[in-house]
Amino acid sequence: MFLHSATHIVECGSVGTHECDELTLYRQALAQSDDAVVIANLDGSIAYVNLAFEKMTGYSAAEAIGKKPSILKSGEHEESFYARVWAALKQGRSFRGVFINRNKNGLLFHEEETISPITNRAESITHYVSTGRNVNSRIATERQLHQLTYYDDLTGLPNRKLFLKRLEEYTEKTAQSSNGLILLLDINNLKKINDTLGYSVGDQALCLLASRLESFCQSACSVARLSGDEFCLLVHECGDADQALAVAQNVLDLLGQALDLDGQEVFVSASIGVARYPQDAKDPKDLLRHADLALHRAKEAGQNVYLFYQTAMRDSLREDLQIESALHGALERQELHLAFQPVVRSADGVLVGLEALLRWDSPTLGSISPVRFIPQLERNGLIIPIGRWVLETACSEVAKLHKGATSLRLAVNVSARQLLHPSFVADVRSTLEKSGLAPERLELEITESVLIENAAAGDILRELRRLGVRIAADDFGTGYSSLSYLWKFPFSTLKIDRSFVAEMNRDPQAKIIVSSILNLAHGLSLEVVAEGIETEAQFELLKCLGCPLIQGYWTGRPLPLAAIKVLVMTPPDSAVVR
Ligand code: C2E
Ligand code: MG
Ligand code: MG
Repeated sequence: MFLHSATHIVECGSVGTHECDELTLYRQALAQSDDAVVIANLDGSIAYVNLAFEKMTGYSAAEAIGKKPSILKSGEHEESFYARVWAALKQGRSFRGVFINRNKNGLLFHEEETISPITNRAESITHYVSTGRNVNSRIATERQLHQLTYYDDLTGLPNRKLFLKRLEEYTEKTAQSSNGLILLLDINNLKKINDTLGYSVGDQALCLLASRLESFCQSACSVARLSGDEFCLLVHECGDADQALAVAQNVLDLLGQALDLDGQEVFVSASIGVARYPQDAKDPKDLLRHADLALHRAKEAGQNVYLFYQTAMRDSLREDLQIESALHGALERQELHLAFQPVVRSADGVLVGLEALLRWDSPTLGSISPVRFIPQLERNGLIIPIGRWVLETACSEVAKLHKGATSLRLAVNVSARQLLHPSFVADVRSTLEKSGLAPERLELEITESVLIENAAAGDILRELRRLGVRIAADDFGTGYSSLSYLWKFPFSTLKIDRSFVAEMNRDPQAKIIVSSILNLAHGLSLEVVAEGIETEAQFELLKCLGCPLIQGYWTGRPLPLAAIKVLVMTPPDSAVVR
């Protein structure tokens, strides 16, 4: 033994003064080093420890010497870890790494250590030397950073970054031998909870949903919160197509269960987009993109809907993007115009009204259906100027029609965003004044979904009624019909959706629905227009059921203004169609 302890330096004996000075220096250096130094014999027993070791571990030199370094063993490492250490040393290499050790008081600490073999002149290993330092605070900072980088603050779930990492690991590990599922979920009405009950209740809802998803997942899948109200699940093995559908349905059901928020029962609904691995994509980013596309379509399809990715979705997205860019400036380039569809009295076929329908002839894309481009106008906000243009143009053209048409009613469709725009009521008032159209001749058509989603809609509709304008419930019977809307909102007219008209001659249930709507409207003194009449049989049946007003291809297709002008020149009491 050439050194005994941290504090006890042996006297130089027989060596020369110069060598003696050098040895003393080396000993002092070891003893006073800030790093913990341990020298062990070939059998691993400790031969020397310095003062820094004593401070770090709590073991004095006397307690440590003669023992094995395993006195510090924490049980936190696998045996294979120590095997790797010894393998390196035996081969004459150094080992560097962070050890989780246990001090004399039983507390764990992280020690960053370098252990090296010491060889003699013959290059045989005689001892091992270890230098190390406590890196607890660095590890804690790293952990904090890791938590911040990879986990969501609010719910504690993995974030997008970690999810992608896990997805990458999953695709690498399984190498397409599994049937995985990515489910991208969007909570639909979180904003409503935030707005009405406050952000802390919204946060509470998110945490409850997160823990539900976590318990659903257990070990067979991973869950993450990707952004505000977006979660993602990776199901490692989902089996066949039926099982995949069942997983999506189960998740939807799970999220649809009541949430107890501060004693209040609240329900949320979700939309889910699903992509399958490896069928839909092999690359993790593509998988997420496909799930996102499916989610987008699921949201358009309504609430509480899940949709699996299909390649056609990608094509329609491309089309959406083309439409989106072609729509900008369409109004200024005069690509938009209006068609007017006749509304006739079923009893005698006399023209009583016109519905203004927007048409777009794009020079690059051709004629595009409003069903396709109006939702895009809604999303990009262009519905505001374009909707205003529709209202102004339709009112001024109809007001200018032949004198015989002064009682013709004009129906104009109004979308959600347009109705809720702060200037909408004022726009309607000034349009009526400018055009000279009598307010009772204007009917604004609203679909039910607009009313469901917006508490403010009722007040706006009542203001419009005070102007004298009529309000029609468009496509009545579809969407989320609730009879309470009929007395909550000041409707003047119900427009029976054309899907019932299309089926009523074949399907007795559709016929019952049509006649029930007619009875209901009659009882509530509301006007009724049946939409989408394409055949004489439909016309006759509606007449027989007592439907007073009819609109459809059979009685008149949407026509350009010039054709309407001709139509209204015919004497007012003669049937204009058929
Ligand atoms: P809507 O308000 O229910 O309009 C009736 C739709 O049914 C029109 O389609 C019309 O052409 C179509 N239609 C009429 N009769 C028949 C028939 O016998 N058979 C069939 N198969 N269809 C018939 P269009 O013009 O494609 O408009 C579709 C929807 O686009 C409208 O449904 C309305 O919701 C919306 N829309 C049209 N113009 C405007 C507008 O200026 N502003 C807003 N916000 N929405 C509009
Ligand atoms: Mg309409
Ligand atoms: Mg309609």
